[in-house]
Amino acid sequence: MITDVLIIGSGIGGLSTGIKLAMLRPDLKIDVLTKVNERESNTSYAQGGVAAVWDHGADNYEKHIADTLDAGAGLCDEHIVRIVVEEGPERVEEIIEWGTRFDLDQFQKYDLGREGGHSENRILHYKDLTGWEIQRALSAKAATLDNLVVHEHYFALDLLTQHHLGHIVTRLTANIECYGAYVLNKENWEISTILARTTVLAAGGNGQIYRSTTNPVIATGDGLAMAYRAKVHLENMEFVQFHPTALYNPGLEKQAFLVSEAVRGFGAILKRPDGTEFMHDYDPRGSLAPRDIVARAIDNEMKVTGAEYMCLDCTHLDREKFMAHFPTIYEKCKEKGIDPLKDLIPVTPACHYMCGGVQVDEFGRSSVNQLYACGECTSTGLHGANRLASNSLLEALVFGHRIAHSIAANIDNCKLEERIPQWERTGTTEPKEQVLITQSTKELKEVMSSYVGIVRSDKRLKRAKDRLELLHNETEELYRNSLVSPQLCELRNLITVGYLVTKAASLRKESRGLHYTTDYPEKAEFVQYSVL
Ligand code: FAD
Repeated sequence: MITDVLIIGSGIGGLSTGIKLAMLRPDLKIDVLTKVNERESNTSYAQGGVAAVWDHGADNYEKHIADTLDAGAGLCDEHIVRIVVEEGPERVEEIIEWGTRFDLDQFQKYDLGREGGHSENRILHYKDLTGWEIQRALSAKAATLDNLVVHEHYFALDLLTQHHLGHIVTRLTANIECYGAYVLNKENWEISTILARTTVLAAGGNGQIYRSTTNPVIATGDGLAMAYRAKVHLENMEFVQFHPTALYNPGLEKQAFLVSEAVRGFGAILKRPDGTEFMHDYDPRGSLAPRDIVARAIDNEMKVTGAEYMCLDCTHLDREKFMAHFPTIYEKCKEKGIDPLKDLIPVTPACHYMCGGVQVDEFGRSSVNQLYACGECTSTGLHGANRLASNSLLEALVFGHRIAHSIAANIDNCKLEERIPQWERTGTTEPKEQVLITQSTKELKEVMSSYVGIVRSDKRLKRAKDRLELLHNETEELYRNSLVSPQLCELRNLITVGYLVTKAASLRKESRGLHYTTDYPEKAEFVQYSVL
C-alpha cells in the first residue's frame, strides 16, 4: 500500500493528529492503523479529565505551569510546558466543537475538578468517563473525513528505514529516514509493506510490562520497541508512573480498575485498613500530594504494616453527588461487594503511565527524518520526571495540532522509497508451543514488578537485567524460527521496553520524581536526561 501519511495508533494522539491534518490538507491520503478496534486504547479508559486553564478569575497559566514544573522534579522543559499550557485551552475548545461533551455545573459553566498536584480546579471531565467520551467524539469526527481511513486489526511490526535497503544503520548514522512500516493484517495474516511519505508513531503506552496495570492489554509498548529497533532516540524511560489507587484485586485481572485521583479531589481520604490517616506523615498536602509521593507512601505503608492494600475513605461524602460524578467507579465497587459510601475502598498502586519515550522537538519530530511521534509514546519535555495528573490528554491534543501543521507544511518535500523489499517469510514455522510465549510474558511481568517497580536498588536492577537478557535470548530465537504472530511480537516488544526501563533506571544514580532507588535516595544537584 502507498500513502502520504501513515499514523500508527487511533487513540487521542493518532486521531487528533489525523483529523487536523485531514482538515488542513484535503489533498493528502491519511491511513491510521489500530491493532485491535478503533476505540480500544489507553485514551478510552481515562477517567479524571483534561487539565486546562479555564476559569481565568481564579486560575492562570503561570499557576498551571508552576504545578507542572513542580511535579516534574526539575526535568521538565519549561519552554514545552509553556506551549502546552498556553495552547491547551484552544485545543480543548476545538474538540468541544468536534462534539466532545464535558460536564456542566448548576450555572451551566464547565464543572472544573481538582486532582493531586494542581493548585486550582482546572480538570474538565465527562463524569468519570472522560477518555471514553473523547475517543467517541474523535472517532465520529474521523469518520466524516473522506481522506482519512482507519484500518482496524492491523498490527505494525517494524518501521522501515535504510536498514531495509541493506545499509548498516546505527544510532550514530546521520539522517536516518523512515519510509513507513511492515504491517500484519490480523484478519488474513498477510504482511504488507505500507510505504508512506511521512509516518506518525502514536502507539501509546506500555503498562503491560508490569503485573498490575491500569492500562488495557493493548499497551505493550510496540511503538517504543519499534522506535528503538529503528535507532530512534528514546529518553527518560526510567520514569514510570504508578497510580496510587487501583482497586485492590487479588484475582489479578489483566487490567486493574482505576479509582481516579478525582475521587481524592472530591474529598476522599487515604487511610490504613484500621481507619487511621497516614498521608500527612509523608506530605503536608495529605491525600492530594502528587502521585509519586502517594504511591511510595502506600507502598511503604503496605511493607511496614504487612497489609495487602490501603484504603480510600469516601464514607463522609454525599451519596447522590458521588454517584453523579463517579458512576463507573460506584458500579465497579458495588460489583465487588463494596459500597463506597459505607465501606472503605481497598486500593493498591498499579503501573499507569510512561513519562519517557521517543524524544521529540516542539513539532513532534523525532531524531529520524519523516518520523513524528505523538501521545504517550513520546518524551516531549512536558512531564519531566513525573506527570501531573490530567496533563497527558492535553499534551496529545497540543502536539497533534503542531504535528499536523508541520506535516502539512513539509510533506511536499518528502519522497516515497519504493525499493523496500517485501517481508521475508521463508524458513519460519508456526510456534508449536504457545505456552513458551505466555510463560515468558508472565516471567517478564514478575521480573519488572519485583525488581524495577516503585522502589529500586542497584542489586534489584542488576538482577532484572540478567533475567531480561535470558528472556531476550530465548525470545529472539523463537522469533527467528517462527511465523510472526501478534502475541510473539508483543512479547518481544515488552521485553525490549522492560530492558529500556531497567537500563535507564540503572544509569540514573539519584532519586528524582518517579525514579526512587535506595542506593541513591537523594536528588542530584545537576539535571541529566537519559537518552537511549
Ligand atoms: P492510546 O490511547 O493508548 O492509543 C494507542 C493506539 O495505538 C491504539 O489505537 C492501539 O491500537 C495502537 N497501537 C499500539 N500498538 C500498535 C501496533 N503495533 N500496531 C498498530 N496499532 C498499534 N490522562 C489524562 O490526561 N487524564 C486522565 O484522566 C487519565 N486517566 C487515565 C486513566 C487510565 C485508566 C489510563 C490507562 C490512562 C489515563 N490517562 C489519563 C493517560 C491517557 O489516557 C493516555 O496517556 C493517553 O490516552 C494516551 O493516548 P495515545 O493516543 O498516546 O495512546
